[in-house]
Amino acid sequence: MALTQKQQEQAMEHLDLHFKDNRRCYVCGKNQWVIHPQLYELMKLPIGGADPERSLIPLLVIECADCGHTVSFNAKKAGLLSKTTFGE
Ligand SMILES: [Zn+2]
Repeated sequence: MALTQKQQEQAMEHLDLHFKDNRRCYVCGKNQWVIHPQLYELMKLPIGGADPERSLIPLLVIECADCGHTVSFNAKKAGLLSKTTFGE
């Protein structure tokens, strides 16, 4: 799912609000983050059989432009998805 202009602005607002004190990469120490222009999802491991509810966590991903270390935020909590999109 590609982020709209409005969602990109919302993502920046979320990062400014919650990722503000030390934005240095935990791996290389640089401060050059790139917001991925699409959302991703983290799927629950189906231990013990299929997951009929298909439990997913939608993710906003940011990546260190220098070393590639990635950090993710729950896209719902970042306000990037409507509450009905992921069945909340
Ligand atoms: Zn880095």
